[in-house]
Amino acid sequence: MENSIHDRIHAVDVSRLTPLMNDRMLERFRTLPFVPKGAVISYIPYFTGGTEGNIALYARVRDYHSVMYAYMLEYERGLSARFPGMRFMALKNGWPLPVVPAANMCGVGFTGRHGLQIVEPYGSYVTLGAVLCDSLLPETPPEGECAGCGECEGACPTGAMRFDGEKRALDRSRCISGVTQTKGGDNLDLIKLSPYIWGCDICQRVCPHNKDAKITDIPEFTDGIISDIDSGALSGDLSGRHYSKALDLIKRNLEIRGGAI
Ligand code: SF4
Ligand code: SF4
Repeated sequence: MENSIHDRIHAVDVSRLTPLMNDRMLERFRTLPFVPKGAVISYIPYFTGGTEGNIALYARVRDYHSVMYAYMLEYERGLSARFPGMRFMALKNGWPLPVVPAANMCGVGFTGRHGLQIVEPYGSYVTLGAVLCDSLLPETPPEGECAGCGECEGACPTGAMRFDGEKRALDRSRCISGVTQTKGGDNLDLIKLSPYIWGCDICQRVCPHNKDAKITDIPEFTDGIISDIDSGALSGDLSGRHYSKALDLIKRNLEIRGGAI
């Protein structure tokens, strides 16, 4: 995999991140087995090709949380072998590190106006991970920037995304990605404005950085792709998916979209 966990090390000084951390993050930091000074940031890509379907791209593959953690554990072992005497610790879901700003600081892509990290050549179809270190590693500089074209904002069917020329704001109560994954809420009818019953990729699909996004070479993601779910699929095997514990929401969203249950 190009520019991946097996290649260049992207490292950041943790002291630059602590001002961005909330109380819960800082509290968790205090309970770690060592005082982290450096962090190494990485990613795995998940685009499997093709965008048709009613499940967002990140959820078409095996649940990325478990796959990412396995890769971070492997990375931790690799770093420990490469830097004997230093201590490393893979994080689950990047917690408690603010991984998006961390990735920006050390050149693991850049954040798009849609708020997602863009890592060429995979576009924004990546998930970030991190390994902490008890020592400082040489920092790597930021790289690249969002083209600022505004296509993502213009394509959002609910107006959830706003950019005032300087700052981006997301109204989570109107973001279909959040609405499809949340119980209750007043904006369930917004689900009818997209093809999705889990997540939403509309703002990503129009982004020029995703135009020729490279297909993932992560073996765990290339098998068992489920792009589309109908009522019949609900009685099949949907284990190990991002939505496995939320099939009631999938069912609800299908009903809202008019799928026969
Ligand atoms: S995920 Fe969908 S609803 Fe949310 S901001 Fe992007 S386009 Fe809008
Ligand atoms: S669509 Fe344009 S503004 Fe939005 S993230 Fe992509 S490059 Fe940036």
